[in-house]
Amino acid sequence: MQSKPLPHVAYFCMEYALQSDFKMYAGGLGILAGDYLKGAKDHKFPIVGIGLKWKQGYTDQRISPDGKPVDTYPIYEYPFLQDTGVTVSVTIRKREVKCKVWLCDKFRNAPLYLLDTDVQGNEDNWITGQLYGWFGEERIAQEMVLGIGGVKALRALKIPIDVYHFNEGHALFAGFELVREKMEKGKPFEKALADSRDEIVFTTHTPVVQGNESHYLDRLLYMGADNGVFTKQQLKKLGGAPFNMTVGALRLSRKANAVAQLHAETANKMWKDVKDRAEIIGITNAIHIPTWVDRRIIKAAKDNSSNIWRLHQQNKKKLLDFVYQRTGVRLKRDALLLGFSRRAVPYKRSDFIFSDRSKIDKLFKSGKLQIIFSGKAHPLDDGGKRIVANIVALTKKYPGSVVFLENYDMTIGSMLVRGSDVWLNNPRRPQEASGTSGMKAAMNGVLNLSILDGWWPEACQHGVNGWQIGGGYENKNEKKLDAHDQKAFYKVLLNEVLPTYYEDKEHWVEMMKQSTLTTHKEFAVKRMLEEYYQQLYIKR
Ligand SMILES: *Cc1c(COP(=O)(O)O)cnc(C)c1O
Repeated sequence: MQSKPLPHVAYFCMEYALQSDFKMYAGGLGILAGDYLKGAKDHKFPIVGIGLKWKQGYTDQRISPDGKPVDTYPIYEYPFLQDTGVTVSVTIRKREVKCKVWLCDKFRNAPLYLLDTDVQGNEDNWITGQLYGWFGEERIAQEMVLGIGGVKALRALKIPIDVYHFNEGHALFAGFELVREKMEKGKPFEKALADSRDEIVFTTHTPVVQGNESHYLDRLLYMGADNGVFTKQQLKKLGGAPFNMTVGALRLSRKANAVAQLHAETANKMWKDVKDRAEIIGITNAIHIPTWVDRRIIKAAKDNSSNIWRLHQQNKKKLLDFVYQRTGVRLKRDALLLGFSRRAVPYKRSDFIFSDRSKIDKLFKSGKLQIIFSGKAHPLDDGGKRIVANIVALTKKYPGSVVFLENYDMTIGSMLVRGSDVWLNNPRRPQEASGTSGMKAAMNGVLNLSILDGWWPEACQHGVNGWQIGGGYENKNEKKLDAHDQKAFYKVLLNEVLPTYYEDKEHWVEMMKQSTLTTHKEFAVKRMLEEYYQQLYIKR
């Protein structure tokens, strides 16, 4: 890109999705982080990742015979992790917590260092037990290990770093350690703070205010998260009271990004009253193609070959066989198949397609329309669990047409984004920050049918490479928004998607090609890494 050596970057994240059964991830944040590290390796960027070694990962969420999600937490062993020989310690609740540092580079990824509190002699060995398992003290403890422990690990490993990239606010306490180091060398607080800010960049994700974590100041002080250098007043000045981790990170970074262009607008509006914060630019997420895309499809699209249809049928058959193995349900090969996999939270509207039964009842009963769902609820979210249970109940109402795959993970994800015909996405705009599963689908020739939210406004050419639901309508009144979107949804599904699939296969195949051709460069991780370097990492 240019002759000066590229800055060395340490990337901090709570989760990394590198491989399906390496259970260091929960969802989209981890998928982004995993794809980022693989892209860094492929394209030789000087990047290392810092994370936590989860003993139980997120949740293994199965469906009980009465149709309700049940969480289990098996313990996994990962013999391929390399012992770096480094242990650092972090003082949490006035107790010393030892953190062993593992190295993972098995998945053609840039080096990933994982901190682990499950070591002998630790009273607090469960801090790295469950990913997102707790909200209060234990969450703060996890974030102290990631942030403070992470910086200490980099020092002990003697890895020189120019830029510290916090992927989401969880990593904020790394900044507190950077401040502490500088004060130890004699810099006054304000100068140490300013110089640390100069080394930090931040990616914000959650466009829902309540989704941005906050903690009482007294609790942070009790935990020792102030790291011995922040007074209560200084903490308040940084993140408010209660202390908001996103606000803190926006004030302790030199520049920040949102994960799509629309999300950048939303985030700037959302945080407009936060004074003295970093500017938020848009750098749209992207995906690691070798992980998610059948490259034969890209080739067929480039060659303008109708082979793309045959290859897709192979991928669809693989998915249907997989569904049969997992559920005993045989879906039809020649009937339209929708895929929908999302975290079970209200704004994603999982059961949206069922909101007017009179419109779709016959289609599902006759098997002309089929849909596969997947997705977990957070283990402590009863509302999310009701969403899952509701979908499971619908599989009983429409047997043979509606399927739910339990325990959503990378294996299920990669099957669905290759083998579905249409990728359905119907969040309440503008709450879906990016939605990278849609990129995976698009490149596989799986046509997006989506609300204009997240990344989709940047790619959508209606009727050419997929479909938009509605015209980007927003309304704070959820009832009105839902009613509007439902009308728009059934209109495009019934008048465009179904007729094209059943009556104009030629155009469908053309759309598949366009879907692949218009996305495979723009939403590949290389573009994202280059933008990170040009717009965040390299100082201007
Ligand atoms: C791609 C992927 C995600 C993130 O996709 P979204 O569109 O943001 O939901 C989450 N989980 C898995 C398993 C994935 O493969």
